[in-house]
Amino acid sequence: MKVTRALFDDVMAPNYNPAAMIPVRGQGSRVWDQEGVEYVDFAGGIAVNSLGHCHPAMVAALKEQSEKLWHLSNVFTNEPALRLAKKLTDVTFAERVYFANSGAEANEAALKLARRWALEHYGEDKSQIIAFKQGFHGRTFFTVTVGGQPAYSDGFGPKPAAVEHATYNDLDSLKALISEKTCAVMLEPLQGEGGIISPTSEFIQGVRELCNKHNALMIFDEVQSGVGRTGELYAYMGLGVTPDILTTAKALGGGFPIGAMLTTKDIAASLKVGTHGSTYGGNPLACAVSEAVLDIVNTSEVLDGVKRKEQLFRDGLAAINAKYDVFSEVRGKGLLLGAVLNEKYQGRSRDFLVAAVAEQLMCLVAGANVVRFAPSLIIPDEDIQEGLARFERAVAKVVQG
Ligand SMILES: *Cc1c(COP(=O)(O)O)cnc(C)c1O
Repeated sequence: MKVTRALFDDVMAPNYNPAAMIPVRGQGSRVWDQEGVEYVDFAGGIAVNSLGHCHPAMVAALKEQSEKLWHLSNVFTNEPALRLAKKLTDVTFAERVYFANSGAEANEAALKLARRWALEHYGEDKSQIIAFKQGFHGRTFFTVTVGGQPAYSDGFGPKPAAVEHATYNDLDSLKALISEKTCAVMLEPLQGEGGIISPTSEFIQGVRELCNKHNALMIFDEVQSGVGRTGELYAYMGLGVTPDILTTAKALGGGFPIGAMLTTKDIAASLKVGTHGSTYGGNPLACAVSEAVLDIVNTSEVLDGVKRKEQLFRDGLAAINAKYDVFSEVRGKGLLLGAVLNEKYQGRSRDFLVAAVAEQLMCLVAGANVVRFAPSLIIPDEDIQEGLARFERAVAKVVQG
């Protein structure tokens, strides 16, 4: 069978609009398409491929587990899931782990847990969930409603109730909404999809204090910011605040679908037997791969490398901007960076992405005004230089029209 991009329009639901080329192979931070054209990968599968493509340790973990045991369901537990949960609890604030298959599912679990916890401890009046405008928490109906982008949540009829949105980095807007009726405040400790927006330390500390004051759970969605992305294992570790519930996915699997919700023993107690579940959650293949990812990422070699590579990106982007004057700033932390388009290029981030693909570079956007980079955490310095050279050619083409 001949597989072409045209086939996509014939057989796939029209909710995506992928590039014209079809990648068929990847190694490290390079990818090849059907025609053998090679690309530098600054997209990392949207902050997922934390160790690049086909990392030997991940391939070995997957191969080894694939010859032992693929699936059991949660009627039985399994060794990779228990090992991964033990490691996650050893290296974070958390004492209990719930496994899912995606970020949205981990968030769905976090929100359902928060609602149950509040109901159990305070009664049914404590059901309000506060999140933030521009926030993104996934595409299930509950999580997309909690996300702060009506463009994603409108158009599906009545929404889950008692969800409200404050303004990110604006503590007063949260103060105006929060009360004893608030069961949880959910936020990304670095907004990703919303445009790569870091929290101020005053804001993040203030959210923690307001949650404490009103007995509300603080939920950190670290689906994009977690697992080394910011140069810390989890972004909260660099912010001086500890959430009550943390969700992680994307880079945790490094390319194999997995999500997890982490919390304390006391809060987790509200998820009694039968209250929530997932057939594939905690799948042995996913957990075995994830364990290999965590072992490698949670080393000073990789985490310090992320901080050093961030500087290479910042220096390279500054040099490009000095020549072409297209960005107003470069935002973000570690290897989750956003080049913000200046006044002259408003609304045109997709033009830069399309021009980049033509120059054999994969990158991302975060809204209409931000070009986003979320490469492998171990992308070789030479690939950063080569990718930036290609990006410069793409920028030149956009500037020249
Ligand atoms: C990607 C993302 C999600 C959704 O994850 P899926 O695996 O696509 O369900 C949730 N929250 C944040 C912050 C994300 O970046």
